[in-house]
Amino acid sequence: MTRRVLLLGSTGSIGEQALDVLARARGSEDPLELVGLSAGTSYLPIVRQASAFDVRVVHLADAEASAHAQGALGRAGLDGDVHVASSIAELIERTEPDLVLNAVVGFAGLEATMAALERGIDVALANKESLVAAGELCMSTAERTGARIIPVDSEHSALQQCWAESHPDEIDTLVLTASGGPFRGRTRAELADVTVEQALAHPTWSMGGKISIDSASLMNKGLELIEAMVLFGMNEDRVETVVQPDSIVHALVRHTDGSLLAHLGWPDMRVPIAWALHYPVRPALPDMRRLDLTQMPALSFTEPDLETFRCLALAREAARAGGGATCVLNAANEVAVAAFLMGEIGFLDIADTVERALDAAGDTPEPDSVDAAREIDARARELARPS
Ligand code: NAD
Ligand code: MG
Repeated sequence: MTRRVLLLGSTGSIGEQALDVLARARGSEDPLELVGLSAGTSYLPIVRQASAFDVRVVHLADAEASAHAQGALGRAGLDGDVHVASSIAELIERTEPDLVLNAVVGFAGLEATMAALERGIDVALANKESLVAAGELCMSTAERTGARIIPVDSEHSALQQCWAESHPDEIDTLVLTASGGPFRGRTRAELADVTVEQALAHPTWSMGGKISIDSASLMNKGLELIEAMVLFGMNEDRVETVVQPDSIVHALVRHTDGSLLAHLGWPDMRVPIAWALHYPVRPALPDMRRLDLTQMPALSFTEPDLETFRCLALAREAARAGGGATCVLNAANEVAVAAFLMGEIGFLDIADTVERALDAAGDTPEPDSVDAAREIDARARELARPS
């Protein structure tokens, strides 16, 4: 049966790679039909994508971009064929998807995750911030409506596959690997003056700006630690993080008999994207680069340097504190990363900003609705704003 896929954040790094996977899946035995697209402001790319994939409904979060999209569709002679939805709810209702791939960046993705889950629609989730900001809310909603959350993040996709049919009692810990980012091995002093360009130059993955900075600060691994706790129902002390510089081992599951199951492959997000889109069928991907075991680099694993990369330690603390602390962490980090990208603060100020906001926010309740999460997020953004 054809699976109707709605792709949110289609103009980003994950979005573009998802389109590549969708193009490859055409004509296969488990066909996927792209039924809708969304982005923040990039109206020209979305018009091009709608035309290339014969998509009839699109949405732009930004009102001005939405008006521009309407004009661009008219100039392309597509205004009668493609509808610009005015909200995520309208986009979902018009496209009736079986699966929503959420590749929006940041807290902005939570609304769409929840809109899909509330309607019992499965979500292939790249937007890890949804689970960091309001993990309990997402998981309990999915449980209530029967919707599935299928991770797209490579580590969590790997964990899901290594966990497979194991009973929870057979699982000891989950192990997340980190590449260490472009600043692996540097000291704090060496990071004081790093530039935006240096921070964006990730050694193993090509990604959007925000996650590239998160990878350089190791906040990405902190967000992923929280994502793993939420997805797999684990306490913080049962999720390990290790540095594996080549990003060949994506994650491992440590079992109670001491054995580890690992997921290996060259880093390519199209593999976990395809896994999530076709789940539970493992798709054939004949064009993906094969890992030759006799030619690959020797695998090394080291402890992350939590003194230099304090963001990972702060994420662990927020995870331990529980409640809405991870929502505060996420919001403060988004403000800090945006300020760093604008040249307003230095690289080391990212961790300082997050720590300041967490301290100032104090005990924060777990958000039990999207509105409650929005309130915590907005307050944390105020606390984090550079003075
Ligand atoms: P990106 O910046 O390249 O793309 C983000 C997309 O979101 C764009 O299409 C943009 O138009 C859209 N968007 C931005 N603000 C929006 C808003 N307010 N409302 C609606 N849409 C909005 O980001 P990316 O690297 O593709 O990452 C997307 C998500 O996937 C992030 O949560 C990231 O952590 C996660 N992720 C990315 C990778 C990767 O390799 N890029 C890997 C794992 C997880
Ligand atoms: Mg990841």
